[in-house]
Amino acid sequence: MQLEEDHLGPHLNGKHLRPESLMMSYGYNPEWSEMAVKAPIYQTSTFVFKTAEEGKAFFELAYGLREKGAEEQLGLIYSRLNNPDLEILENRLRFWDGAEDAAVFASGMAAISTSLLALLKPGDVILHSEPIYGGSDYYIKNILPKFGIQSIGFQASATAEEVEQLLEETGVADKLAMIYVETPANPTNHLVDIEACAALAKKHSTADKKVIVAVDNTFLGPVFSHPLKHGADLILYSATKYIGGHSDLIAGACLGSAPLMKQVKAMRTFMGSMASPWTGWMLMRSLETLKIRMEAQAKGAEVVAAYLKQHPKVEKIYYLGYLQDNPQQQAIFEKQCTSAGSMIAFDLKGGEKEAFLFLNNLKLIKLAVSLGGTESLAEHPASMTHSDICPADRAVMGIGESMIRISVGVEHPEDIIADIEQALAKVEELVEEEV
Ligand SMILES: *Cc1c(COP(=O)(O)O)cnc(C)c1O
Repeated sequence: MQLEEDHLGPHLNGKHLRPESLMMSYGYNPEWSEMAVKAPIYQTSTFVFKTAEEGKAFFELAYGLREKGAEEQLGLIYSRLNNPDLEILENRLRFWDGAEDAAVFASGMAAISTSLLALLKPGDVILHSEPIYGGSDYYIKNILPKFGIQSIGFQASATAEEVEQLLEETGVADKLAMIYVETPANPTNHLVDIEACAALAKKHSTADKKVIVAVDNTFLGPVFSHPLKHGADLILYSATKYIGGHSDLIAGACLGSAPLMKQVKAMRTFMGSMASPWTGWMLMRSLETLKIRMEAQAKGAEVVAAYLKQHPKVEKIYYLGYLQDNPQQQAIFEKQCTSAGSMIAFDLKGGEKEAFLFLNNLKLIKLAVSLGGTESLAEHPASMTHSDICPADRAVMGIGESMIRISVGVEHPEDIIADIEQALAKVEELVEEEV
């Protein structure tokens, strides 16, 4: 099968094939490996050159010593630079987001730390939404300053006007180099308007400095949210979550235009933060079921959310399907999300005691951090994923002592509800005993 193609993928009968149709075999030729239908794991550190001349030509391209010829392909050299399992995976991954290129990393944090280091320099300012993933938060606030990069945070729930005003008030708006957002925010599901961020970035860009908009798309992407379409330049993922999807690997990814990715991949080569061939192979396997998993999880979450919403022990629910009472957030949802996804947070009536009692009594749902896997997981953000944020800041972000976060898996939703129901009954019993 040799079809015409561009960066959005091959066409058939004048139409692009959809990503889910390409995940099984795109970019792999069975002739490379005894006609095996699946790509093998290229568990090798280095690759044999046919001749010394070929080795020289491959290095010239890898190190950018000369321009690539029209028909020339970058040859395989060494698995820190490139490996078939990563290359095939990256070529498939980019179709979901309509990106020109992708790079896969050893973890989400490797993707974030390497990409930011590649695109920022001393004196730069990074404006970021809050809350963001704890590791990203630490990296931006504690590691980047060592390299002379300053950060400014804004609340994910803030309006575009408020963000702009905040930036102007800092007096360093002229140093703005990147706007970094996580949408929806974890665990509150607050949405950030990517288009508004792109407009702000454009306003502060000059002829020789383009302000980059980077979006951590881990929660809804790459199936239900496509930031590049709304003006983002760079997409980051913890592929450990939905992309991997089975809670059995750690990986990350970065996607964007060819020129930006060239810088990111160069930094990856020197940081050595690429994924292993084995992880690349596992992720290829995961991509085959990505869409059906995410759709099944989202469908289950809708049923679970409806149950939680009406339960008398539940004080408040944070779920993208229930934004109707917040027209501003609902408008962003309609613009940039195609599903509410499968992350639900809720506040129980009470405090940490009630939350812990609930978690300790779950039978089917596992008590663990992380998310996006086929199994449902529950955790307590205030004492776990978000415990290094000071209580005052947590309060501003809306992360209370009675909040529970659930990542809904692919189990039957009625079984998930049965588990929640019996755990909530234990909380009710406690309250009755105390009265
Ligand atoms: C988990 C996570 C990360 C970090 O990814 P790792 O694979 O654990 O390094 C970054 N961003 C978000 C939103 C995450 O959920």
